[in-house]
Amino acid sequence: MTQVQFGVIGYKGRMGQALEAAIVEAGHAMCIGVDAGGNIGPLAGQCDVLVDFSAPEALSANLGAARVAGIPIVVGTTGLGEAEFVLLADAAKAVPVLQSGNFSLGVTLMAHLVREAAARLGPDWDIEVLEMHHRQKVDAPSGTAKLLGKAAAEARRIDLASNMESGRHGMTGARREGTIGFATLRGGTVAGEHSVIFAGPEERLTLSHSAENRMIFARGAVKAAAWLTGKPAGRYTMNDMLGL
Ligand code: NAD
Repeated sequence: MTQVQFGVIGYKGRMGQALEAAIVEAGHAMCIGVDAGGNIGPLAGQCDVLVDFSAPEALSANLGAARVAGIPIVVGTTGLGEAEFVLLADAAKAVPVLQSGNFSLGVTLMAHLVREAAARLGPDWDIEVLEMHHRQKVDAPSGTAKLLGKAAAEARRIDLASNMESGRHGMTGARREGTIGFATLRGGTVAGEHSVIFAGPEERLTLSHSAENRMIFARGAVKAAAWLTGKPAGRYTMNDMLGL
């Protein structure tokens, strides 16, 4: 196995620390770690791949560094908006880019099952996404909740942004038909709990995933990064890596 040199962005954070452990565990090496206030730019050329689990504001500079160095980049940062997705697509014209709101095998498969269920169960089955994370998480709903909601929306051939209902409060009126609901819980040290509930007439189907430790995301991201080295420029997903 070729040892891959990793540049880790956000390395002092919870995921950064998990990534460092996962890189060593997989027999690779972390050549550079940068955190807030640092600049990966001039150092990126020493790495084979960049892995970014930091903050949406850092994305533009990190993609720029990957482009200048001509190396792939894996992006795990969540809370990305339209503008960031345009940046990802643009960078993918020059280097391999793999972005995912969740790097675990279980959630990648769960998204498949959600897609299948949403396509097969008719519109009288309402879809709700419930998630819980630790008290320090800064964005909501989670990137994984959005990923699961997007899988359901695509299967129903609807646009998620205009059919998303989150944070219900007060006199909301009856549930709007065809929407996908999101509910968020925060507390303690929960690494990630997600359920997608299909609520039909007098029956309910729930698909759930529990992340017991953030090492599952770190291991997935390290595997994805090693896989991405040597690939041509383009936008890749976890499904591509897993051959799904
Ligand atoms: P964290 O707050 O513990 O760590 C983030 C780190 O990034 C901090 O050390 C912070 O100082 C650093 N940072 C902030 N701005 C920066 C910048 N401009 N340049 C470099 N570093 C910067 O958060 P975390 O729990 O490690 O999560 C990090 C991100 O990864 C979040 O967006 C989180 O939602 C996401 N996440 C994704 C997955 C996944 O599988 N895709 C899993 C877990 C967490």
